[in-house]
Amino acid sequence: MKRPITSLYEFFEVFPDEQSVIDHLRAIRWRDGAYCPHCASKRVMHFSDKKTHKCHDCRQRFSIKVGTIFEDTKLPLRKWFAAIWLITSHKKGIASTQLAKDLKITQKSAWFVLHRLRYAAKTKSFQRPLSGAVELDETLLGGKESNKHKNKRRKGISGTAGKTIVFGMLERDGEVRAKTIKKLDGKTVRGAVFDNVADRTVLLTDEHVTYKGLDYGPYTRFSVNHGQGEYGRGPVHINGIEGVWSLFKRQIYGIHHHISAKHTDAYLGEMCYRYSRRNLEEYQRVDDLLTQIEGRLTYKALTHDQEKI
Ligand SMILES: [Zn+2]
Repeated sequence: MKRPITSLYEFFEVFPDEQSVIDHLRAIRWRDGAYCPHCASKRVMHFSDKKTHKCHDCRQRFSIKVGTIFEDTKLPLRKWFAAIWLITSHKKGIASTQLAKDLKITQKSAWFVLHRLRYAAKTKSFQRPLSGAVELDETLLGGKESNKHKNKRRKGISGTAGKTIVFGMLERDGEVRAKTIKKLDGKTVRGAVFDNVADRTVLLTDEHVTYKGLDYGPYTRFSVNHGQGEYGRGPVHINGIEGVWSLFKRQIYGIHHHISAKHTDAYLGEMCYRYSRRNLEEYQRVDDLLTQIEGRLTYKALTHDQEKI
């Protein structure tokens, strides 16, 4: 943004029409120069209507939306921008029913908009290894066996059965990453930590046996023993990641009431994205998300093929 924007009202003043939004998107997406979304050629011709472009090499015409999450949308980009403001500035996110009312769109459109924005928030955020001091923890979502119909209860359940297991890593004063895992065991946890955490990082965990395997390797681990009523010795605590879990649960149960298991990672991605950028101003978060809009998420992929989300 050319200047700091401090409210949604001001946001609409700065972006009074569709062209102002298109211009801003062009400035961000093509900050290193315009390129063709079909063949990546940099030889791009711009039409005088300020929204049509043509590739000198493959000869195809395109708008700034082609190749992004906005491709083929029927909604004005201005409404998308407002949705980005809302989803990145509300600490617990926004429900599709609320977004539908705020933007005067159908709830189905709002649901799809939010999922596309979650897709954008998720795709490029797993790059830099976490370092310094990293808190690790797991939490369980949903699946209270006692609430299910008798026939549907699983035999011999204990611990994690019937629940979604979420594993998270919080870099002190930095980023948080979280994802669902199929099994809470040493191998799965080690895999996630090795993929995301730099060598020589200090790990903070609770006493769960799963984390013992991390004592052999490139890390130093300290654990806090909750079982013995211990909640931390100085810097040895996992209060940060526990705060993230409570924020996430307030988001799910307070805003969305219920989320399906297959979309849990998308909601986790949204929460992690926002949390990791908590020190940015609202307008900076909008611009930040706009740098991550490459790629498409079709309605079919969203509803039928969870692997692509
Ligand atoms: Zn081309």
